[in-house]
Amino acid sequence: MENNRGTFWTRVGYSNVVLLKNGKSAILVDTGVKGNLAHILRFLKHKNTEPAELKLIVLTHTHHDHTGNLHELVKLTGAPVLVHQNEYENLKKGFTPIPKGMGFYTRFISGLGSIVVPRFASPKAFEAQLINHHEYDLNPFGIDAKIISTPGHTNGSQSVLVGDTLVAGDTFLNLGNGIIFPHFCNNPATLLHTWEMLFESGVKTVVPGHGKPFAVEKAIPELEKWKKKI
Ligand SMILES: [Zn+2]
Repeated sequence: MENNRGTFWTRVGYSNVVLLKNGKSAILVDTGVKGNLAHILRFLKHKNTEPAELKLIVLTHTHHDHTGNLHELVKLTGAPVLVHQNEYENLKKGFTPIPKGMGFYTRFISGLGSIVVPRFASPKAFEAQLINHHEYDLNPFGIDAKIISTPGHTNGSQSVLVGDTLVAGDTFLNLGNGIIFPHFCNNPATLLHTWEMLFESGVKTVVPGHGKPFAVEKAIPELEKWKKKI
């Protein structure tokens, strides 16, 4: 049956939500911008997925634009939530520090945000049931994939590797203005190491946190560019 197996994405607000599906098993990666529950439910329906078939919700990191609709989805699906150990406390407290901006303008916004609305980047508090300490096998949830740690955008950023496709959260962007390297970033040098590791790992396709999926080659010139800057 169509849509019975695969990796599907949809844009929820301005962030991507990804469905990993294998028959009656399904995993959702990220929960988008808040106020968009109806969109996510329509997306699931379109992919022949009952809310109760969601076995797990993986959060690539805990910024508010990736964790909206989380409480509602948990209520509806009963699925446990999995975060990286370095984001667990942030989610529990509902406070994620605003990452540093990479350019003058984003640095300005980030600095201003930290002063005016320190909770600007933060999720609604939630205590996750499952924690990834480094890698996490998703086969027990019926999906042949694994979570890997991809620190840099935040210290607890993680991605899902499905074959040679990386569901990356904000480890990669693909914005209309050509930005691939996240313009808000906790640790740019760490992120570049993460990119190098990923380029060597055989990843072919990236599903970014914002923007359309792309072939990984597109990001390689960016690596060289940012290595000189950082
Ligand atoms: Zn983010």
